[in-house]
Amino acid sequence: MTDRIRQFLRRHREDGPRLVVDLDVVRSNYNAFSKALPDTRVFYAVKANPAPEILKLLNDMGSCFDTASMGEIDLVMQAGGTPDRISFGNTIKKEKDIAAAYALGVRLFAVDCEAEVEKIARVAPGSKVFCRILCDGSGAEWPLSRKFGCAPEMAPQVLEHAHKLGLVAHGISFHVGSQQNNVKAWDRALKTSGAIFREMAERGINLSMVNLGGGFPAQYLRDIPKVEEYGQAIFRALRKHFGNRIPETIIEPGRGMVGAAGMIEAEVVLISKKSATDNQRWVYLDIGKFGGLAETMEEAIRYPIRTEKDDDVMAPCVIAGPTCDSADVLYEKTPYLLPVSLEIGDKVLIEACGAYTTTYSSVAFNGFEPLKSYVI
Ligand SMILES: *Cc1c(COP(=O)(O)O)cnc(C)c1O
Repeated sequence: MTDRIRQFLRRHREDGPRLVVDLDVVRSNYNAFSKALPDTRVFYAVKANPAPEILKLLNDMGSCFDTASMGEIDLVMQAGGTPDRISFGNTIKKEKDIAAAYALGVRLFAVDCEAEVEKIARVAPGSKVFCRILCDGSGAEWPLSRKFGCAPEMAPQVLEHAHKLGLVAHGISFHVGSQQNNVKAWDRALKTSGAIFREMAERGINLSMVNLGGGFPAQYLRDIPKVEEYGQAIFRALRKHFGNRIPETIIEPGRGMVGAAGMIEAEVVLISKKSATDNQRWVYLDIGKFGGLAETMEEAIRYPIRTEKDDDVMAPCVIAGPTCDSADVLYEKTPYLLPVSLEIGDKVLIEACGAYTTTYSSVAFNGFEPLKSYVI
């Protein structure tokens, strides 16, 4: 936790869970990405946290934006972003939204099949498209599976189709899986990308861009490699697979940009045991899977959780949310250590919650309000 967040929490006491994001951390993360990958343009993945203050800061620092919907495009433009710095990076778009983005001036679109290329050719003529390829996501704590991207063997056909329809076959994209702890994860995808570039050149079409996606981790319980190590590994892979003809590159960090910048203050609503002989406590918080902590699904993301009593004796417990859905258990398979002196009404601090929390919180499941957010 940063001093600024600590002071904010002390000065503004409040009931109910709330996320507090420190813009200083976002600023230093942006600088770290720019430094680690100096020749790569940053397209912040807006879905990680679309708070206007964050978008405005990143826009002022020169960032571009990866968006998935007209709603996100509008947010970026309200924050001062210009269409030439926006990528419509979702491979699943309604034709009317492509047309609306084009009317605003957006000219960069993701595709992973010919049907999507045809939509873009119809309503966004002359635009640049990049083809997303499948990536297996191994090594990632939040893999993105098979939903996006086509088999690499299909990509040249998709891009050639785009070229024939008057679009600019711009390049390739992939996402190595979110919270990717392995700095070498980009190597294989870049090898495949290099092969696609050569295949396209043989067809007389020169691609120019590789979109390296997101995947850069935030520090949760496990230690993670530094951004510089990712930068070095990616640069080595580019050299290896593209030689002296390194393409234009972009990255789309979401979690790595804002994850560590925020933390959630929550409260203990109940501590109980399931039987007289059970010695495991159940600790129920006023936030759970539906209040913003959806990434605890299958206990994938393990947030550091702290209390003011962490110097006391600690004992394992199950941690759950407040709603009446039995899926709303955060950690049970791998119990967390919390102080035995923890009491109902105590505050707990859940760290590294800047990404994928406010956007995942439900509107009013069980009558609980969406997660409140403060950007300082
Ligand atoms: C979600 C997403 C990202 C951001 O991923 P992180 O792992 O949070 O960095 C980047 N690109 C695309 C296309 C995405 O959908």
